[in-house]
Amino acid sequence: MDFPARLLDVQQRIDAACRLHGKDPATIHLLAVSKTFPASAVKEALAAGLHAFGENYVQEGIEKIQQLMAHRQSINWHFIGPLQSNKTKDVAEHFDWMHSIDREKIARRLSEQRPKGMPALQVCLQINVSGESTKSGINPSEAPALAAAIAQLPGLCLRGLMAIPEPTEDVLIQRKSFSELAQLFTSIRQQLSPDAQANFNTLSMGMSADLESAIAESLPQVTTMVRIGTALFGQRTAK
Ligand SMILES: *Cc1c(COP(=O)(O)O)cnc(C)c1O
Repeated sequence: MDFPARLLDVQQRIDAACRLHGKDPATIHLLAVSKTFPASAVKEALAAGLHAFGENYVQEGIEKIQQLMAHRQSINWHFIGPLQSNKTKDVAEHFDWMHSIDREKIARRLSEQRPKGMPALQVCLQINVSGESTKSGINPSEAPALAAAIAQLPGLCLRGLMAIPEPTEDVLIQRKSFSELAQLFTSIRQQLSPDAQANFNTLSMGMSADLESAIAESLPQVTTMVRIGTALFGQRTAK
């Protein structure tokens, strides 16, 4: 399958899940995860109409951003991988979004290092939802305080929550994780100031194998950003 055929397939999966679960397709945004694929693959996706790309590795992402500088205005670059504090400056200076904030120190550095001439870095908090064995992501009970702190930082704009649940083929378990994230989103939003509430509108959840479950648990009038790599670009070779 070529890129347009894979994209059509993903769009049909999204539309079918929206119909099945009674969701508004306009609330589902597609983030193309281009990690490990070359700039030429991003170009092809851009030509097919995609404008948001996700990268996991700082150095690789920056190289691609620089290779595609001629298209900078038509691309939103999202950093979605784990980030060490000595790399925050690279993300602050090059990316539009950052999905994986899980501690205040990283948030403060990103805010301080965001260049003054650029719009605020759009950020999501990464939540460690139940059953996840990874160390990344903040515990749900600690998320409201971190969200409140981040909402005060001038270089950042707090947009929502992100999770990477443990892979499972059990649809009920997939849905339980996403539903937990959506409930936490609703409760955090209620606690934010009215200004911060207006920006807090994004659930970053769902990947190639579980996008239907993410859509099933999506919230009305909230953007669900599905982060799709394999289903759009094909299998990744091990890094
Ligand atoms: C790699 C990656 C994805 C895409 O995963 P696929 O299963 O290939 O769709 C999404 N989110 C994050 C954080 C990733 O690291």
